[in-house]
Amino acid sequence: MIVACLAALTACTLNPATGQRQLTLISEAQEVEMGRRAEPQVLASFGEYPDEEWQTYVNDLGQALAVTSERPHLPWAFHVLDDPLVNAFAYPGGYIYVTRGILSHFNSEAELVSVLGHEIGHVTARHSVEQMSQQQLAQLGLGVAAAASEDFRPYAGYAAAGLQVLFLKFSRDDERQADDLGLRYMTRADYDPEEMPNVFRTFDRMQDAAGGGQIPDWQSTHPNPADRVGRIQAQIVELPPELRDGKVGRDGYLRRLDGMTFGENPREGYSVGNTFYHPDMAFRMTFPDGWTIVNQRQTAGAISPEQDALVVLTLAGENTAADAVRAFFEPKNVQPGGRWRESFYNFNATGSDGSNLRGVVGFVKHRDVVFQLVAYAGRDDFSQYGNAMRRSLASFGELHNRRYLDVEPARVEIVKLPRAMDFGKFLQHYPSNAKGSQVAIINGVGTDQILEKGRLMKRIVGGELPDN
Ligand SMILES: [Zn+2]
Repeated sequence: MIVACLAALTACTLNPATGQRQLTLISEAQEVEMGRRAEPQVLASFGEYPDEEWQTYVNDLGQALAVTSERPHLPWAFHVLDDPLVNAFAYPGGYIYVTRGILSHFNSEAELVSVLGHEIGHVTARHSVEQMSQQQLAQLGLGVAAAASEDFRPYAGYAAAGLQVLFLKFSRDDERQADDLGLRYMTRADYDPEEMPNVFRTFDRMQDAAGGGQIPDWQSTHPNPADRVGRIQAQIVELPPELRDGKVGRDGYLRRLDGMTFGENPREGYSVGNTFYHPDMAFRMTFPDGWTIVNQRQTAGAISPEQDALVVLTLAGENTAADAVRAFFEPKNVQPGGRWRESFYNFNATGSDGSNLRGVVGFVKHRDVVFQLVAYAGRDDFSQYGNAMRRSLASFGELHNRRYLDVEPARVEIVKLPRAMDFGKFLQHYPSNAKGSQVAIINGVGTDQILEKGRLMKRIVGGELPDN
């Protein structure tokens, strides 16, 4: 770092949060521009959690922490994303996102604050900006996409949802530094620092439940949660006593969680057998037997067992089916192959790897929105799948059946225990539509724990799907 700094002395600045010299290729104005331009894209891709109270609450907490930081003048913005995965991430310039999935795993306001503080730490220490090379900057074009840090996402897959975002991997040192800065900001805002290790304990339990090896991405970029507990505990005992007992905000936070959507939201699409239902957009579509259905916010589709054929449903960007057809056949590598039926066309295409593809595409207007339905396979494999894929495309239609239309997501419900009981009894008296081990994790308790009288506990209710 020192050598790099000497070589480019003019671009070297002292970071106020970390006290370290940083080689800065990106100005603060550019940094803010990256986060600002990405904001609408992130919100469109993940969706904002549709609850004004939650948005205001998280933003207010974040702002109160950010003003205690070394970069209070950044245009800080905090959003809750409508995503079931446990995740939080920060964009350069002070744009911070937490998912409803992570919110439902916290058990106090101070736990939430510790994660917001950690994300603020990534921004104040300029971790993502520092990681970007000039080449990456050139590729990004400063606005087509921007780099984000991501913290708790257990597995890959967002990129496929159409999010043009480069997720950078932080080093363990960066993560430790963000933990330290998070601890600094939460104590400055007068929160109990002991709540930070509770969050790591929850991640530790999630990791155990996932079977360790299942989340290599997370493990490779983040220090082991158990080690994080030890590191932070060692710092907490060194704090002056007056900083060691701040706000916790347990019951108030839990009351706020009552009614929050939990897990996947079936109103945005779910499948029963090989049929996909989308209640909010009132359509249904049946995919070929035995194929794996994938549902993402802006795409639904299915892939053959051999992974050599696809049926994909997306929203066309155009306002009319005719415009969408023109746009689809515009690229040079796509050749029309004649009409199959009303508004469906055969095509041949050359893949980006030079492979020859054959497929069928159709454009259907449904409730004022044009859908693109496309099925394709390698030219040699197409005959094997052609009939099944055509049947699937033709099955797209209006969803009328109230049984499938009226589904609701599962929700968190908060109950107050009328007497002391062990966790097993709690599950019996207050059954959840989730595994017992998961209920223990979201409550931050062990499955052998005795729960005291008057304790607030989360259970998961609703979310049942119709069966076949
Ligand atoms: Zn982090």
